[in-house]
Amino acid sequence: MRKLALLFELAVLAPSLVLAWLAIRSVRDQQFLLERQQSLLYQGVTDTIAKTISDRLAQQQQEFSAMVESLAATNSPRTLALQFDDQVRKAWPLAEVGFSVALSGTSTCTLTCPSPTAGPAAQRFLLDNGGFLGNSETAEVYLNVNNSKVGIQKNALNGDNGWNGYNNSQVQQLAQKNESPQAQASSEPTGQNYFKGKTRSVNPQSGNYQTTANQAADSQDNNLSKVIPAEAEFRELIGDGTDGMLARFLQNKLKLMFWHRLNRDSNFVFGAQLNLPRLVSGLRDLAQPDPALREEICVAILDDNARPVAISRAEFHTVWKRPFVATEIGEALPHWEVAAYIVDPSRLTQAVCTETIILGLVIAVLVIAIGVGGWLIVTDLNRQVALARQKTDFVSNVSHELKTPLTSIRMFSELLSENRVADPAKQRAYLQIITAETARLTRLINNVLDFSRMERGEKKYNLRDADLINIVRETVDTYRPHLENCGFKLECALAPGQLPIRADTDAIAQIIVNLLSNAEKYSNGEKKIVIEARRRDGPLPCAEVRILDRGPGVPKGCEERIFEKFYRAHDSLSSGIQGSGLGLTLARQIARAHGGDVVYEPRESGGSCFCLRLPLKMD
Ligand code: ADP
Repeated sequence: MRKLALLFELAVLAPSLVLAWLAIRSVRDQQFLLERQQSLLYQGVTDTIAKTISDRLAQQQQEFSAMVESLAATNSPRTLALQFDDQVRKAWPLAEVGFSVALSGTSTCTLTCPSPTAGPAAQRFLLDNGGFLGNSETAEVYLNVNNSKVGIQKNALNGDNGWNGYNNSQVQQLAQKNESPQAQASSEPTGQNYFKGKTRSVNPQSGNYQTTANQAADSQDNNLSKVIPAEAEFRELIGDGTDGMLARFLQNKLKLMFWHRLNRDSNFVFGAQLNLPRLVSGLRDLAQPDPALREEICVAILDDNARPVAISRAEFHTVWKRPFVATEIGEALPHWEVAAYIVDPSRLTQAVCTETIILGLVIAVLVIAIGVGGWLIVTDLNRQVALARQKTDFVSNVSHELKTPLTSIRMFSELLSENRVADPAKQRAYLQIITAETARLTRLINNVLDFSRMERGEKKYNLRDADLINIVRETVDTYRPHLENCGFKLECALAPGQLPIRADTDAIAQIIVNLLSNAEKYSNGEKKIVIEARRRDGPLPCAEVRILDRGPGVPKGCEERIFEKFYRAHDSLSSGIQGSGLGLTLARQIARAHGGDVVYEPRESGGSCFCLRLPLKMD
């Protein structure tokens, strides 16, 4: 049995405990997983908004190119080159300063506009960009160059952003020529699209999250901008491109320029420095997440100093430098980002907590279920094994019980039949022994047969009106001679009158005989038995027969088990008392079939008291 329990533990309990342990470990990773899921979801939002902003800028760049072409349609290139600053500011509200560059050869550029007399903005522009646009000095710029010959209007109408087909290899070459470590670190292909938004991964807003070493390394890497400046002269930068944009940082301020090479005369390049606040106010409506996420996150457009220039929730404040996720907009607005912030970071922790608790509970319930199931199986196996052992004991007990009376019957009947006993008193005594042993044999066989009928559900009772006092009296009269022969004193206390019951009289007599026989067997030399029959009053009045002896009584803890089939509290080997373990089982089953019961009560000053209770017949 112990082997079986050990096997069970190894085969079921150990693997389920290992599984539970693995499940608990995975519960611990829930926080990271949930954070990851959220970050992927929000990353999608910032990526989309960053792309929309890029597309909007691309569209504005096309509008600028179209506007330059329309201005050139009414003016000669040379005239336009001189008046472009004025004209572009009138025609295009986003323009802060317009400029025109006349190209000749591969390295000569002449800045023809704006004029230094045009005003302070033009003067500042010339101071900042004169050398660079005149191709006399290099500058560090972020650029996108389009060399597509496809008509701008067509692209614009198609909704195509018109920036496809940028000369990215040129940008790459320029970036590689620039020997800044940032540029060297980012020599990965930038793809063919204008939108080169780079994502910044999870950068938890709340200090509650524990980031793993990998995550930390990751976020460090991702915090580096992937948008690279290129250092070159203007002529070299624009190459053969038809239009494009340039962004520069001057005195830590971003300056964004659009330029367009005239279709009619490719030696003329017209451009404009953009009014950044106006441009940004046009982008404000784009800083909005999906309506479903509006309550969860706040989206902000951050400038190169990580200051919000547009936010989706006016009342929201946080450490802007620590977004949950962010996407760089690209070369159009270098180091600008679309960032997402969790409105209530504790909600994520709470969600993780709830999920962890639920999973933990499920695991605990499953482990308990496995444990309880296992325990039930082992208990049942134990019971089955015990029952099998009891059955084996039963067979040997019954064989013994059959053998003992048979031996006596055979011995005394041989003595009598061979006339070897002359004394008539002795002859009578031997005949009485034979009768008693035959009765014992009959009782045993009846018990076994009745038990097997009951087990098969075939036991039938012949119920009729009867008087319990009468049944007890008749049974006692039959059994008394045997008891008195064995030296017992049987005291019978019967209540006057009748105890009407509805019962199978033979079955009730069988119960009384079994109880009397037990009182005799387990008397331990105290040869006094009392039998009482009376009405028992109480909430449920009933008829009661009590059989009392002064034997050893039922050992403690076995009071209920003695009614189980084959169970023997006094085992034959140690007590020397023969038995089958069926007498009380049968007694109780018969009593219960009559709506009553048989119970054991310890007797004061030692001994047993077995009570048979049966319902009184109501008139
Ligand atoms: P058995 O054939 O063993 O007597 P029973 O079902 O009649 O089977 O009784 C079950 C067990 O109950 C007995 O083995 C004995 O240990 C205990 N028992 C029954 N009657 C008495 C009694 N009068 N006094 C003490 N123990 C008893």
